[in-house]
Amino acid sequence: QHGHSEAVVTEAQQRHADVFSLEGKLALITGGGTGIGLAIAQCMAEAGATVVITGRREAVLQEAVATIGESAEYVVNDVTDLSAIDALVAEVEASYGPLDILVNNAGINLKKPALEVTDEDFSRILHTNLHSVFALTRACASRMMARQQGVILMISSMAAYYGIDRVVAYAASKSAVEGMVKVLASEFSGQGVRVNAIAPGFIETAMSRTAMNSDPDRRDRAMRRTPMGKFGQPNDIGHAAVFLSSDAARYITGASLPVDGGNSIGF
Ligand code: NDP
Repeated sequence: QHGHSEAVVTEAQQRHADVFSLEGKLALITGGGTGIGLAIAQCMAEAGATVVITGRREAVLQEAVATIGESAEYVVNDVTDLSAIDALVAEVEASYGPLDILVNNAGINLKKPALEVTDEDFSRILHTNLHSVFALTRACASRMMARQQGVILMISSMAAYYGIDRVVAYAASKSAVEGMVKVLASEFSGQGVRVNAIAPGFIETAMSRTAMNSDPDRRDRAMRRTPMGKFGQPNDIGHAAVFLSSDAARYITGASLPVDGGNSIGF
């Protein structure tokens, strides 16, 4: 046996691969053109899924689809346009088949001291990060429940749990998403649809790297709060998303999984 280079897959290895596989699944990933959403799309495609990514910028989506490869498609869509949500889901299913997985990843942040946050700021953050997430989830869940199967993932944040200065609207939106996960998981669990959240810690994306590099104090503070002593990579969220969407997680619903290098251990 030893010394052979040909790959022989044992039955046990195949069983292991099958349980984590997303072969034949269709996933819709909002904001899948950049950062964490793109990594989730890439990891899901590697696990065998067909992925449909959305976002507002067509050029960004085209480039992302070219990076991911053949099993990726895109639809230009602004999740805040609630009147377009039913049409988006109908279009995706008409073009690519029944949706198995929804990843609510699109999100925006705003860093301002609370007293400087305007009503318009607050509504904009809540509308994108919370109301749109609810509306798209409702549209997908009704279809998934009719088929008795589906997985819904929310990309939350550790800002839902901890007092991080200057993100009051963002923290409110993500805490609300965490609350919603439990209610939806409870209501949907009888009809084969699981609902979970991933709460990323400090993840190094192009944008967060620029922000951290331009503010060394903030970088040091974030590092001090991270027991593993390093920031996470987008793929760390991608792998967690694959796991939670796979049969390996078939008994997990209503959960929020921190992927944060230990931020959630506390002090
Ligand atoms: P990015 O800004 O790179 O990604 C956000 C994506 O969402 C973009 O592709 C953007 O595309 C899309 N998007 C924003 N608004 C809309 C909209 N109205 N309609 C459709 N798409 C939209 O940031 P990240 O990858 O870092 O963030 C992804 C998620 O992860 C967010 O929910 C964020 O809150 C969460 N998160 C990130 C952390 C980090 O450290 N990076 C930590 C914790 C949570 P476009 O502008 O083209 O529409």
